[in-house]
Amino acid sequence: MLERIRIVLVNTSHPGNIGAVARAMKNMGLSDLCLVAPDRFPHPEAEWRASGAQDILDAASVVSTMQEAVSDCHLVAATSARSRGMPWPVETPRQFARAVFSWRDDVRVAIVFGREQSGLSNEELTYCNRHLAIPANPEYSALNLAMAVQVVAYELYHRHLELRDDDALVPLSGPLDPAWDQPPCTQSDMERFYAHLEDTLVDIEFHTRERPRQLMPRLRRLFQRVQLDENEVAILRGILSHTQKAARGRYVHRFQTDTDEPT
Ligand code: SAH
Repeated sequence: MLERIRIVLVNTSHPGNIGAVARAMKNMGLSDLCLVAPDRFPHPEAEWRASGAQDILDAASVVSTMQEAVSDCHLVAATSARSRGMPWPVETPRQFARAVFSWRDDVRVAIVFGREQSGLSNEELTYCNRHLAIPANPEYSALNLAMAVQVVAYELYHRHLELRDDDALVPLSGPLDPAWDQPPCTQSDMERFYAHLEDTLVDIEFHTRERPRQLMPRLRRLFQRVQLDENEVAILRGILSHTQKAARGRYVHRFQTDTDEPT
């Protein structure tokens, strides 16, 4: 479906915005860009802002009217920060993305974005079937053009992933995930770690078993909040062993100095 969605930019004045739109599109798996009478294009600033999406700029079509840009599409959606003129039903990009992926798979879609200064005209809005508004602060709801494209494109890509592969949407949360690079440690690894930690804290005279206060329960809560992997526990145990060794060296040294002192 993504390859049948066209992004149409009407009379864009800043070439940098065109480049940033190309990048936003490529990031989100869109490739069909159509420019309606841009002020300056091609332009070095567009290329600079496109970064790795130069191919989208190279393949962009340039036409002189909005009707030309959408003539072969079955469904045209206008984007607008505010409703004006005659009221129209308005939907969010998320609602639109749900709808798009429910349509037959030969439907061609255009999503039209307006001018930086004045958006789309009332007449241009009437060439469209649907109106999309990105929910935003009512005091200041107009996003930068490329950022508006980014939000809409993200919703489309997110929906595409949702339908294709639910797992792709779940971020890695830690060692319990199959893709983590180390196996999770067990609770008995943790118990051995806590015992080692307590011994070390005693050795460095940070802690006494006679007056334990809340130290160990608080340290347990700290480490239990994160799921450690086997490697992380091994590193922490290594640090504890070295700390104990260093502390012993210091106390031996102090002991020797004590005995060296004249009585
Ligand atoms: N001053 C213009 C704002 C244009 S912003 C106006 O009042 O209309 C440039 C384009 O970005 C808009 O035409 C629209 O296509 C898109 N855009 C910006 N903010 C948006 C929002 N909140 N919802 C949908 N599209 C938005």
